[in-house]
Amino acid sequence: MFVLILGAPGSGKGTQGKILADRLRLVKITTGDILRAAVKAGTGLGLDAKKYMDAGKLVPDSVILDLIKRELDKPEAKDGAVFDGFPRTAAQAELVDQTLGARGQRLTHVLLLDVTEEELVRRLHGRAALEGRTDDTPETVRTRLQVYQQDTAPLVAHYVPRGVVHRVPGTGSVDEIAGEIKRILGR
Ligand code: AMP
Repeated sequence: MFVLILGAPGSGKGTQGKILADRLRLVKITTGDILRAAVKAGTGLGLDAKKYMDAGKLVPDSVILDLIKRELDKPEAKDGAVFDGFPRTAAQAELVDQTLGARGQRLTHVLLLDVTEEELVRRLHGRAALEGRTDDTPETVRTRLQVYQQDTAPLVAHYVPRGVVHRVPGTGSVDEIAGEIKRILGR
């Protein structure tokens, strides 16, 4: 089972992805966490990524495609995984399709976490205070929401014809949303 959790920043992707991955004992691949760790460690990847992340823009595909490929090729992602934070562009979606396809696999579920923009902004501002993420400032939040609408939301149209997209109402308690995801997946 390869599950993509898709949603705007602040939609709860990270939280729900973790609950799901723990429950089904799947590895969760989170490009945002990998990039934040690279920035912290001061690696070449981190240096390349930091300015885009701080501005709320996507790290270019020229930087991210290799990272995604490496993660997908790891043994722990051989039979399934939860994808959190990627694919985020058409080129990334293409790479995921190709890599899984070459192994006779495919993305089996796309869970679209549906949260109103008002609620997203409220949550992101709360998170800024709690976690101190440098990309949760008001201007960056605005950019990240725009980038999501422009580059990532169109991926839904890419997956709908395959019948794998499920809309999950993203409001309600964490447990209620996790329960809805369980119902959708049937496990
Ligand atoms: P996230 O934690 O998923 O919201 O990611 C935080 C930031 O990391 C984003 O605003 C981007 O700058 C960068 N990022 C994470 N994942 C990707 C990706 N798949 N493609 C491009 N940039 C990414």
